[in-house]
Amino acid sequence: MVVQTERDDATWYECETCGMLFDEQSAAADHEKHCDDSDPSYIQ
Ligand SMILES: [Zn+2]
Repeated sequence: MVVQTERDDATWYECETCGMLFDEQSAAADHEKHCDDSDPSYIQ
């Protein structure tokens, strides 16, 4: 699930599964579809 969060006066979107932050909701949603916290190799 993607969670919206505010940091440094900016809005970020966090993947609730792995905690990765994205500046675009679409990017976070796309990541979240493929996210598997048992496979950290996906993280760039
Ligand atoms: Zn993730």
